[in-house]
Amino acid sequence: MTESNPAIAAAVAHLRRLSNKHLYGGKLQDPISGMAFPVVSPATRKEVGSAAQGDAKDVEAAVRAARAAQPAWAAMSPRARGRQLVEAAKQLNDHTEEIAALLALETGKAIRTECRVEAKVLADAFEFYGGLGSELKGETVPFASNMLTFTQREPIGVVAAIIPWNVPLLLMALKIAPAMVAGNTVIVKSAEEAPMSTLYVVEILSKLLPPGVVNILSGDGPTCGTPLISHPSIGKITFTGSVATGKIIAHAAADRLIPTTLELGGKSPMLVFKDADLERTVAGAVSGMRFTRQGQSCTAASRIFVHNSLLDKFVQSLSDKVNAMVIGDPLDEKTDIGTIISDQQYDRVKSYIALGEQSKGVQALHLSRLPQAPELKNGLFIQPVIFTGVGNDDRLAREEIFGPVTCVIGFDDDEDAIRMANDSDFGLAATVWTSDLKTALNATKRLQAGFVQVNQNIVVQPGLSYGGVKQSGLGKEASLEAMLDHFTSKKTIIMNMD
Ligand code: ADP
Repeated sequence: MTESNPAIAAAVAHLRRLSNKHLYGGKLQDPISGMAFPVVSPATRKEVGSAAQGDAKDVEAAVRAARAAQPAWAAMSPRARGRQLVEAAKQLNDHTEEIAALLALETGKAIRTECRVEAKVLADAFEFYGGLGSELKGETVPFASNMLTFTQREPIGVVAAIIPWNVPLLLMALKIAPAMVAGNTVIVKSAEEAPMSTLYVVEILSKLLPPGVVNILSGDGPTCGTPLISHPSIGKITFTGSVATGKIIAHAAADRLIPTTLELGGKSPMLVFKDADLERTVAGAVSGMRFTRQGQSCTAASRIFVHNSLLDKFVQSLSDKVNAMVIGDPLDEKTDIGTIISDQQYDRVKSYIALGEQSKGVQALHLSRLPQAPELKNGLFIQPVIFTGVGNDDRLAREEIFGPVTCVIGFDDDEDAIRMANDSDFGLAATVWTSDLKTALNATKRLQAGFVQVNQNIVVQPGLSYGGVKQSGLGKEASLEAMLDHFTSKKTIIMNMD
């Protein structure tokens, strides 16, 4: 890792400067708890910073700041609020390199294939929502000729946004940008594995927005998350993370009858029918498996159903492509695949790989090569694995592994493929690969998933509603509908004109 690169050197300096700080009320703040925890690079295993550990007192102070700022923020015209977000997008674009380097340092995601892309989409999300202020419209309702009946959309108040570590910047933006344009103030609770890049982004935002509009606390779930989700002044919780935590949040919200948006796990199927264009499909599988993010994605194509007539060629060609990918230093521009986020996740992914290796009839293809550089020898790198011979009922095909692991499962009958794809607790995303329109339409209609693509596998984009069904969650993100449905409450007003 080279600190002679100015963006990396700046990121290292930000890590020091922002260590042991929350940000609320427009200022960096020391933790009232007096506690902190180390931030460790998963590539070098060296401590690169230290994050403030929030507790109930920190939550109280941040909520007070957010509550104080909300009425004046809500009183601004929506377009004026939006303009501030568009300005924020420009600032974020100006800082893309530093943001990307910081993200790579703390998460181990590769800078070229992941972090820079995420930093750009982050800015794009602010620009997108910044332009939607004038869409916070109500309706006139033709109720009676002597009554003027209309609806208006009002902000909810203070929104808690709880985010995970896998795509922390984009997922934070998809929550806080629509919440703020709609007139809410926000408190982010960052993920303990990736607290610093989000803090840096919130610092950039807070220099442009009125104090208290955007606030962020770091800390673990029980100590910092619990007091936040149960605080009586929080009017809405928006969350991305595990199914287990999603249910805890839904229970906490039910106790106070407040709304939630929950983006949870996935076991997303990719269906390759017999008339698929093989080359295009293999390229789609490479991006779909999200191996450049070490498979740490809820939408990762982790079950690939391939027509048996294509199976051998597909596996061979996919293996060749993955073999050519470079695993290495996340800050190196040549690297395609970085590290797993933490020891805990590393052990978890390894245990699934061991399970596959011990299962009868299952073959494991371990692809690419681990990095050899001495400074990376303790890094949390895992060679991508493609399993064949797995049954759709096996744990490998049912549980979310969140690592660079995919199961390729053959089929003869198209109906079987759709049935197996739907036979899952999850329903987040799916892709369909075919050159036949009828096959494509039949599959897209019948797949139980919130985000279905045909002959492509792009990631979440601002403007496209994203969210799952079944255990994958409740509600949508990334679109206009997401802002209107999830960050406003609708009031009906009836004026008697007699
Ligand atoms: P993962 O297993 O991917 O880390 P989690 O669901 O545990 O997913 O974490 C996602 C986010 O939820 C993190 O910011 C984490 O700190 C937070 N979190 C975990 N437990 C709780 C909780 N009980 N209350 C509120 N937030 C929590």
